[in-house]
Amino acid sequence: MNTVNILGVPFSKRTLLQTVALVQAQIAAEGKPLFHLITANPEIVMAARSDQQLETIVKEADMVTPDGIGVVLAAKWQGEPLQERVTGYDLLIRLFEEAKEHRFSLYVVGADEETNAKASQIIADNYEGVTVVGRHNGFFKPGQEEALVADIEQKRPDVLIVALGAPRAERWIYKYKSRLKAKVAFGVGGSLDVIAG
Ligand code: UDP
Repeated sequence: MNTVNILGVPFSKRTLLQTVALVQAQIAAEGKPLFHLITANPEIVMAARSDQQLETIVKEADMVTPDGIGVVLAAKWQGEPLQERVTGYDLLIRLFEEAKEHRFSLYVVGADEETNAKASQIIADNYEGVTVVGRHNGFFKPGQEEALVADIEQKRPDVLIVALGAPRAERWIYKYKSRLKAKVAFGVGGSLDVIAG
């Protein structure tokens, strides 16, 4: 088995680089359903214990990575060590760095309008091989959601990143999973704020 079960959550044992390779393989494949990756911190693990919907979302995810030293330590105490943390930010930056050889299209959802626009521009300008095909800030009203989902559905990005905070991003991806038509989707917490600087 490639997972370690911590309080009911199946955490991937893969390193960051192994995870990046798996995501790249998903991008390279055709005709597969959306691959929902969750980078789960201890807060998500705890919240999933009392929130049945979140528990379902985590269990149905295609991959859950240990995002936080607390998860890595819990695995160690269980006698099933995980190799390292795999955070959304680290995963994203590594995918960007390898995009010259492993090109992909990207849709950027989340953060305020200025941050989203700035981060999207910085990504497009700095990482050869990454094509930003769409973006939207994370402060949309329920009435604007349909247009956003339809836009993602039409643009079919290889990678969809969602910065709405955890577990909001995970709930959002799950809700629209069948319609998003991205190859890989994951929540990236405050990564856009970091990239925008
Ligand atoms: N965010 C958003 N819409 C919201 C709430 C938050 O786009 O309704 C964005 C926020 O601007 C930030 C990101 O979500 O860029 C992560 O927020 P936070 O740091 O609070 O989340 P966490 O670190 O808990 O995942």
